[in-house]
Amino acid sequence: ARSHTDVLIVGAGEAGLGVATELRDLAFGGHVTVIGDEPYLPYQRPPLSKGFLEGKEDEDNLALRAPAFLDEHDIEVLQGRRVVSVDLADKGGTATLDDATTVQFEKLAFATGARARELPVPGASLVGVYTLRTIEDAKQVRTALVDTARLVVVGGGFIGLEVAAASRRRGLEVTVLEATPRLLGRVCAPPLSDYLMKRHAAAGIDIRLDTSVVELVGNVDGQVTHVRLADGATIPADVVIVGVGALPNVELAEKAGLECGRGIVVDQAGRTSIDGVVAVGDCAEQPHPNLPGQRLTIESVNNALEQSKLAAHVLTGVETPRRGVAWFWSDQADLKIQIAGISDGYDAYVVRAESTRLTVLYFQNNRLIAADVVNNPRDFLAVKRALGEGRSIDPERADDLSFSVKELLQGQA
Ligand code: FAD
Repeated sequence: ARSHTDVLIVGAGEAGLGVATELRDLAFGGHVTVIGDEPYLPYQRPPLSKGFLEGKEDEDNLALRAPAFLDEHDIEVLQGRRVVSVDLADKGGTATLDDATTVQFEKLAFATGARARELPVPGASLVGVYTLRTIEDAKQVRTALVDTARLVVVGGGFIGLEVAAASRRRGLEVTVLEATPRLLGRVCAPPLSDYLMKRHAAAGIDIRLDTSVVELVGNVDGQVTHVRLADGATIPADVVIVGVGALPNVELAEKAGLECGRGIVVDQAGRTSIDGVVAVGDCAEQPHPNLPGQRLTIESVNNALEQSKLAAHVLTGVETPRRGVAWFWSDQADLKIQIAGISDGYDAYVVRAESTRLTVLYFQNNRLIAADVVNNPRDFLAVKRALGEGRSIDPERADDLSFSVKELLQGQA
């Protein structure tokens, strides 16, 4: 590794590589070094709970960029190296790696991502219990699911539901345990939760809401055999997959003196509390677009890319462009879920349901702020575009199915 670099990026995921790539797109000519502690070149995580898990995609397809691209763009990527401390000086600073070498830098980007939250109950480290965040995790899960009859998924969030749907499709007996009264409670309104609940139940997944796990029980070999619930009941399990959220990796930034909450605190463009230092992706806590004074972390590929674009502008001193509309997707068996905008802060929603499709439009002060869409890419694209152009829909007319969402959006400003 170079002992001196112009921009040091800690974390070689979607966000870290995004900053590096964007710097080159802005014709930045200095040295760019990305350091990541995983033994892989930067890769995509979304397939880990979808195509990769189902065996439709393999490891080689996961890479974000080919080595040749990194060479051509003169992006130095260190794999399998961890940054253990960062000392910030008046200008720039020094990072120390786990092999005791140091790298001096002028500017710094934290792109340390997040890690899977463990289930805080006895038995969480039994054999057969997995979280899903890395290629390593996904390989283990994929192998574990091959000769398995009974899968219990703890957590009815995106990752839990994707794994459940993929496994059910392969014929496993699948139970999903969700502690709160509905699925995806943190990210969507009740209509989407209820719809997914119905569709997954119809596919044969046993979903139990308001159900807390108090213990994972194993046999003498330390292999999980049961899940014990708060009401004392037990459910047999050969494999348990825990999808109970992610924890932003903030410790390194915190030790370096940056202001941190749940994530590393940043402004709209990724600036941290210290000049010349940005933070991007899952590790960053940013201003909330709909709720002034509040901040949020957003765990999505689109957020990682949007933030890295803006942060690269900050690092090179170029005026930051406007941020694009937030969007997200999830694939759950034959359900293609797409989300445009950020719905929290909504004060009203309108549901448009047609056979196997669903669109939920969210409003704040009568303005469209987001849509959750199932199996209707046209509605998703129409809303995403409209949000970018500041167009809205009259909430009074929004449930009229004789007009498409696109038609309703036409000419509205
Ligand atoms: P990460 O991808 O977590 O990368 C950070 C990297 O930094 C990691 O490799 C980490 O090990 C490394 N690191 C941390 N600390 C250090 C250190 N001190 N030194 C060196 N390296 C360090 N998003 C969607 O939009 N759609 C989806 O369908 C979707 N599906 C997903 C499915 C799964 C199973 C998972 C896990 C995530 C999914 N996501 C999805 C979320 C998306 O993958 C993340 O938002 C995105 O990967 C965030 O990128 P990041 O670079 O911020 O963080």
